[in-house]
Amino acid sequence: MTQHTDVVVIGGGQAGLAAGYHLRRQGLDFVVLDAQAAPGGAWQHTWDSLHLFSPAAFSSLPGRLMPPQPGKEYPDAGHVVAYLNDYEKRYDLPVQRAVRVIGVHDDGRLLRVETDSGTWRARAVISATGTWWRPFLPTVPGREDFKGRQLHTVSYRRPQDFAGQRVIVVGGGNSGAQIAADLAHDTELTWVTQRPPRYLADDIDGRALFDAATARRRALDEGRTDTGGVASLGDIVAVPPVREARDAGRLKAPPMFARLVRDGVVWDDGTRAPADAVIWCTGFRPALSHLSPLGLRGSRGHIDTVGTRAAADPRLHLLGYGDWTGPASATLIGVGRPARDAAREIAEFLGGEG
Ligand code: FAD
Repeated sequence: MTQHTDVVVIGGGQAGLAAGYHLRRQGLDFVVLDAQAAPGGAWQHTWDSLHLFSPAAFSSLPGRLMPPQPGKEYPDAGHVVAYLNDYEKRYDLPVQRAVRVIGVHDDGRLLRVETDSGTWRARAVISATGTWWRPFLPTVPGREDFKGRQLHTVSYRRPQDFAGQRVIVVGGGNSGAQIAADLAHDTELTWVTQRPPRYLADDIDGRALFDAATARRRALDEGRTDTGGVASLGDIVAVPPVREARDAGRLKAPPMFARLVRDGVVWDDGTRAPADAVIWCTGFRPALSHLSPLGLRGSRGHIDTVGTRAAADPRLHLLGYGDWTGPASATLIGVGRPARDAAREIAEFLGGEG
């Protein structure tokens, strides 16, 4: 059976919900299709000790402040899931689960959205599928030779799973630092980073990241010098557990090793570290395979965008994947503005279409 609507939003995480909020305000007919069985997007799957890097009030979607979590300045992932669940209900957003979009096709004037449970035809599509579903693993010699356990950030849950083991954590971003701090007490930890870890000043949290991303966008839009944005501040937010582990001297980070061997890793100078497990905190890529039938892939595996709109197809918008789809759009507080712009642009485009 084929169903029709003005706009199909693909993904019901925070970005998809923010899009829904603004589409409703524009008076458009829409549906949100989400592959998960329950609300909360990627936040349902993070490690147990993960806490936001901003206080609740600075982690809110449009229209509704995230309430504080009792006893915690920086809420945990469970609190975010509860907030997203409540947000969806409060605004009565039409989210359908569990519906996975397989492909978006050009169908003349409309876009055809094929899912694992039927077909939709829409005048516009907002893709908001996040990055959690496409973990990135770098090519490192010997990865198949290592006989221990290898996992990516997405599969890490808690330090007890590695108690007493020799664990190598790879990656100098926030995931790497937080997981290394999480493991610092219970394991024999080696944390390796490509370049020396760059901590933000201890009094800086996600609020400053949002401001820096916005300032960079504004500078670029106005033709001024690139401020460097978030990257100019550093990579790692010194959230309390990271700060504690660092200050206790448990987060010394040697440079990246040269290769893996059967029982561990080896550096260029021949130094070896035996290991039971290697945890790759090496980032993510945007989950865009459902858009492949449109043939829009540009440079760097992204789709070229003007704001959130696909440069080559005004019916398609991309939301929440990173700064290339709006400053800080991959954060709770940052996704509201590009969601508003996307909904407004779609309303204008569909209005012009008649
Ligand atoms: P997601 O939450 O991934 O939601 C996308 C949804 O789309 C999912 O439900 C998925 O199942 C669905 N989907 C995917 N493909 C399909 C398909 N083909 N068909 C149908 N549905 C599909 N941000 C902050 O603001 N503060 C923080 O402190 C913070 N900490 C972070 C810590 C970590 C470790 C990570 C990885 C990110 C963090 N972020 C933080 C960034 C960001 O807020 C999250 O990554 C957020 O989950 C992104 O939301 P999203 O809606 O774009 O994607």
